[in-house]
Amino acid sequence: MTDTRLLALIPSLPKVVLHEHLDGGLRPASMLELAEAAGHTLPVTDDAAALGDWFFDAANSGSLPTYLETFDHTIACMQTADALARVAKEAVLDNAADGVVYTEQRWAPEQHVTAGLSLEAALEAVQAGLEQGMAEAASNGHTIVAKQIITAMRHADRWQDLANLAVAYRDIIAGFDIAGAEAGFMPDRHPDIWPYLASNDVPVTIHAGEAAGVDSIAQAVHLGQAERIGHGVRIIDDIATSRDVGASVARLGRTAAWVRDHQIALEVAPVSNLQTGASPATTIADHPITRLKELDFAVTLNTDNRLMSRTSMTNEMRLLVDQAGWTIDDLLDVTVTAAWSAFIHHDERLALVENVIYPGFEKAEGAVL
Ligand SMILES: [Zn+2]
Repeated sequence: MTDTRLLALIPSLPKVVLHEHLDGGLRPASMLELAEAAGHTLPVTDDAAALGDWFFDAANSGSLPTYLETFDHTIACMQTADALARVAKEAVLDNAADGVVYTEQRWAPEQHVTAGLSLEAALEAVQAGLEQGMAEAASNGHTIVAKQIITAMRHADRWQDLANLAVAYRDIIAGFDIAGAEAGFMPDRHPDIWPYLASNDVPVTIHAGEAAGVDSIAQAVHLGQAERIGHGVRIIDDIATSRDVGASVARLGRTAAWVRDHQIALEVAPVSNLQTGASPATTIADHPITRLKELDFAVTLNTDNRLMSRTSMTNEMRLLVDQAGWTIDDLLDVTVTAAWSAFIHHDERLALVENVIYPGFEKAEGAVL
């Protein structure tokens, strides 16, 4: 299949997004309304397109702390039950329109209680919005399943409160995550929550190997018992490449070998990584996602923050095809890997792969060929 044909069919392919922040995917037009209702002043107050441009430009600064500042504005717009539900609903609808069939939306409830919501009420508002989005998408002919991941912010030291929340709502949430400033706020900052979450059967994914290196990934998988790693691209630092009779040979360090051998999913978001400088690469072609995939790591493809990165799953896939030589088999591979790594039961993963992803790829190919 030519690249042109493949690029054309990407929007219709079924997609799975495991790593996307609810507070990083707002519609600019909705933000204008939500900010006014919240009494919050945005950097642009009258033009949705210009507001979208502001977020993209601010996020292109090349540093993670500056990138994270953009979230002050989105979070300020998400402090009531109605606002949280609306943002969650629109995230589901926007993903469904992009061909996403399964998504886990993560967010940090502790950042959404400044107007008086309880952690529980905030979580329930997001759940209501996700369910509204799924129902509305279904009525538009798009079947999508959306679940939430509870994130604790590393620097805020409310890890135990959020772990308690995750355990209390174990039956409706997908899992638990920590995010925010990575360096200096490692999983051993609050070591007791990890066995607590594991003993209560809460799946864990941890942002690691984004702003810090291999040690952070090692802690996430060993102490945090993370089944998935948010980004994890710095695992490449634990892989030495040498030339042997003209061929390139990879030698994996212990952590890299552990992550690959256990098929711990890497939730990679190439556009975001280039923006934040998480990866030493400066182009999609050089991003380690392709190398990691070649080495049989369990690579999944994600958006991270659609607003700040002005991206979508379609955009991420198109860039990899256009600039890194990915084929339709590569796209199918990361999609199936994501489905098998989803925080749902085995039979649900199987149904997603066999009844949705494989038939969806076959149908899309058939329509174009
Ligand atoms: Zn993230």
